[in-house]
Amino acid sequence: MKIDEAREVRTTCPYCGVGCGVLAKVAANGEVTVRGDPDHPANFGRLCSKGSALAETIDLDGRLLYPEIHGRRTDWDEALDLVASTFSRTIAEHGRDAVAFYVSGQLLTEDYYVANKLMKGFIGSANIDTNSRLCMASSVAGHRRAFGSDTVPGSYEDLELADLIVLVGSNLAWCHPVLYQRIAAAREKRPDMKVVLVDPRRTMTSDIADMHLAIAPDGDVALFTGLLAYLGQHNALDRTYITAHTTGFGQALFAASALDLAGIAAATGLGEDELVRFYSLFAATANTVTVYSQGVNQSSSGTDKVNAIINCHLATGRIGKPGAGPFSVTGQPNAMGGREVGGLANMLAAHMEIENPEHRDRVQRFWSAPAVAEKPGLKAVEMFQAVADGRIKALWIMATNPVDSMPDADAVEAAIKACPFVVVSDVLAKTDTVRHAHVRLPAAAWGEKDGSVTNSERRISRQRAFLATPGEARADWWIVAEVAKRMGFDEAFSHPSPADIFAEHAALSAFENDGARDFDIGAYAGVDAETYEELAPFQWPAPSQGTPLWPEGGIQAGHSSASTRFFANGNFYTPDGKARFIPIRPVPQTRTNERFPLVLNTGRVRDHWHTMTRTGKSQRLSQHLAEPFAEIHPADAQRFGIGDADIVRVSTEHGEVLLRALVTARQRPGSVFVPMHWTDQFSARARVDALVAPITDPISGQPASKNVAARVERF
Ligand code: SF4
Repeated sequence: MKIDEAREVRTTCPYCGVGCGVLAKVAANGEVTVRGDPDHPANFGRLCSKGSALAETIDLDGRLLYPEIHGRRTDWDEALDLVASTFSRTIAEHGRDAVAFYVSGQLLTEDYYVANKLMKGFIGSANIDTNSRLCMASSVAGHRRAFGSDTVPGSYEDLELADLIVLVGSNLAWCHPVLYQRIAAAREKRPDMKVVLVDPRRTMTSDIADMHLAIAPDGDVALFTGLLAYLGQHNALDRTYITAHTTGFGQALFAASALDLAGIAAATGLGEDELVRFYSLFAATANTVTVYSQGVNQSSSGTDKVNAIINCHLATGRIGKPGAGPFSVTGQPNAMGGREVGGLANMLAAHMEIENPEHRDRVQRFWSAPAVAEKPGLKAVEMFQAVADGRIKALWIMATNPVDSMPDADAVEAAIKACPFVVVSDVLAKTDTVRHAHVRLPAAAWGEKDGSVTNSERRISRQRAFLATPGEARADWWIVAEVAKRMGFDEAFSHPSPADIFAEHAALSAFENDGARDFDIGAYAGVDAETYEELAPFQWPAPSQGTPLWPEGGIQAGHSSASTRFFANGNFYTPDGKARFIPIRPVPQTRTNERFPLVLNTGRVRDHWHTMTRTGKSQRLSQHLAEPFAEIHPADAQRFGIGDADIVRVSTEHGEVLLRALVTARQRPGSVFVPMHWTDQFSARARVDALVAPITDPISGQPASKNVAARVERF
């Protein structure tokens, strides 16, 4: 786009899934200022500490500015030729499943779309997976099991309309701060509104909680199956809704009744009185939203947790109504956009399914593609295991740093080092992943690139450029398209701009979509450059005119929340239009043993993001917490002879880190919390993901990053 220095550019924050609108301005002296966009419906002008410090993170220090082959600067032609010829040769010699892309929720939807189109439609493999697998794959799997589609049935407005908000495994105050601010503001206006926090730790989010349930790690399935049984026992079901809009309730209730209250108390580590207080509050409050995040998703029972929560909302008819619903909030700025274009290895584009021959045929005809992938590809953990054992021989990593962020990170690093051909496209020259790349491709950064993102409430917003692209950096979609052309797919990858890609993406979402699929933005099919440039944030679905997806009665008068469009009239995306109860029984997820008696829980802090490649540049952000830490309960500190601020070694079967002990009663006895952000670049021996076992949820493939058997000892 043309950069106009005299005006503010309307764009979107590149950090979390709240997706706040940002106004960015470049002064004549080059100084950049950012402020919250008062007109953006996600934040109405609010920004958190990370969003407000964006201008401090956009210098060129450490940028990768030119293509490199084996550390030697080269030009784009040579680099792209090498990538294309090596991928083509590898496919010819070893088959299409010998190559893989590992992509990122940091990519814009247009980048994601082109990468997915190349891998799934033209290479013909589904070996493209994303770091969003580490973030919300269990929610996707849970939605698909219950609704027949990956639909988030809620809007942020529902959080302000609810009378009860149950926050499960979510430190919203630090990880989705603007949503926390919206809830806090709503609560000030309506003091009767109640908040329950379900989290092993007493985090900053407990400041607005009326009740904190310090649940045992992975006790959530027992908590919510117990709630379903309680609702059944206490006449708190919406039988009319259950009969009209769901199937499988009897089996789900039977499974949920496996544990009595004492059994649930034992499985959750909560008192029976606490359980009854929570259950009776839930039963009595029609307008309830259950918000869940990584504490639910990052678990070997993550999908069951999601469905245990959804079961309770279906049983009470609290879904698709203002101020009610189960609500997954995503970690990354464009995890949702990635889901929409098929960035996960088990999905096709536009929420279509790889296993469905009709969907494959539809996508193949739309793309005029030679070979659409016929089976799901390797999910993130499996993908790096395939790199390690030599099945993957050419790997392209885009906009992410798996050497620091994947579970069993040392093994992932060894796999990447041993891989015959590794391409990394990134903004930075020296991340722990970039240094192992044979080919380094300089990508445009936030502020330099144009495209779109989708936030946790299904709202699509534009990211717009306001800075010139430095050196020879290029947009990710351009880089992928240029490789595709050199692999012989010129015609299908000739998009001249992000607007053209978005127009194609929108057209595919509407292609032969007669209301049978949830994701539809057909209203923007074939959108022109001018309209795309001016695109205002909107929630999907946005079907083209004349395609009625939702019965009128599903939209309640006077309420603008798009959540009401979903499911109010039993319009689920299953063959019979009914939602599915999933029978779930709690299965203990205990991993501790004599050698490793504590549970390691990893997570985020307020002012850092991912592996700190952006936030680490801001002094202001680094002042909040200057170093990583191991948070342990005083009883455990005493048991292991540890004093506050001692240097401790935290170790697991997979590795060890050195950290400062933070002894606090906010922690649950038996657990240790370590933040995930610090890498060896910022603090010696602090890569906590090197400690995390590569254990995954059997359905979603999401790693269990919050329940690892560990030991803590004074160093
Ligand atoms: Fe950015 Fe998330 Fe903060 Fe909003 S809440 S400003 S999207 S980091």
